[in-house]
Amino acid sequence: MLFRVRSVPVRAHWTLLLVLPYLAAIFAVRFPVVAKMSGARPEDLVLPPLAWGLLVAVGLFASVLFHELAHVAVARRAGGRVREIVLMLLGGVSLIEHMPRRPRLEAMMAAAGPLSSLVLGAVLLLVRGITPAGVADLNMGLFYLGQLNLALGLFNLVPAFPLDGGRVLRALLAGALGAARATRIAAGVGTALAVALGLFAVLNGDLLLLLIALFLVTGAQAEAKAERARELLSQVRVSDVMMTHPPTIRASAPMDSALGLMRTAARLDLVVVRDDDTPLGVLLAADVADFPPETRRLVLVGELGDRLAARAVVVSAQASAQDALDEASRASAPYLLAVDRDPQGRSVLVGFLGRGEVENALALRTLEMRRPTSWGAPISPRRA
Ligand SMILES: [Zn+2]
Repeated sequence: MLFRVRSVPVRAHWTLLLVLPYLAAIFAVRFPVVAKMSGARPEDLVLPPLAWGLLVAVGLFASVLFHELAHVAVARRAGGRVREIVLMLLGGVSLIEHMPRRPRLEAMMAAAGPLSSLVLGAVLLLVRGITPAGVADLNMGLFYLGQLNLALGLFNLVPAFPLDGGRVLRALLAGALGAARATRIAAGVGTALAVALGLFAVLNGDLLLLLIALFLVTGAQAEAKAERARELLSQVRVSDVMMTHPPTIRASAPMDSALGLMRTAARLDLVVVRDDDTPLGVLLAADVADFPPETRRLVLVGELGDRLAARAVVVSAQASAQDALDEASRASAPYLLAVDRDPQGRSVLVGFLGRGEVENALALRTLEMRRPTSWGAPISPRRA
């Protein structure tokens, strides 16, 4: 983490850390050419080339941050909560939670970044227009910062998912086609554009451009995969994907009995239940390790109460799997404990869901949905 802006942590991605020194070096090494491009005569400039390289690098960083804060401002106004901002070469990623999934809002949020970059770029160039030509350093600074922001705005408007333009495209399509199909189409367009950009980069021997193309392809594929998972999980209930009969330990059991249970179950996590079978939370092997071996039989598992409970969210086994996972992510809890009513009306534990279970369930669902491709397939997969 670098610093916080209005309580939001800001981090820098390695692509940005890579390009800043690169940009600074290019500026410093090719200084006379760079200065002439802005219309300044190198001999009029007071600042040395290295200082210029540094200034432009910091300028890019600040421009990307400004762009990202525009996204964040719209998200916050709509009720979203920003977990962190990661600054990257082409803009950034703001991790936003609680954001209502409404296409119009998503389009507005995505468009806010590039539009603010374009406006800032235009303002900087306008200010340069009224700056006396004699102030060469200020003139050149405004020129490059203005160009940088215009480029950032225009580039991000390209409808290649996961760029902002691709998000706007997806949101516009989502209104008519639904989120899943809209994402597939936007990711397809993004991949195609990125491949074309990659080919162009190879033909021109442009390494930086190739890096950007690769970055776009992986981004588009990752978004498509996440949306596919979301689609699959919203079609099933927690009970369809949970592990039934999970390994459990009673809250009244001594801590030293946990390791044996973990060994038998071949897991490092156990569900903790109270004596009436209602779930309390999840115990990890690391919790046991916090106690010296000779004290473990003197401590009861339930004494760790809050710590165990904070790791898990209790949900109904009948709830939609996607809704339940959203709830867990809001609570920053890695586990879901599924409950159902027993004849006495108590909510007793019936299942368990960790990251591994979700991934297994997704893999199985994907296999089930794949139809045999050849006509003569001797065995067709059974469909649930
Ligand atoms: Zn953006």
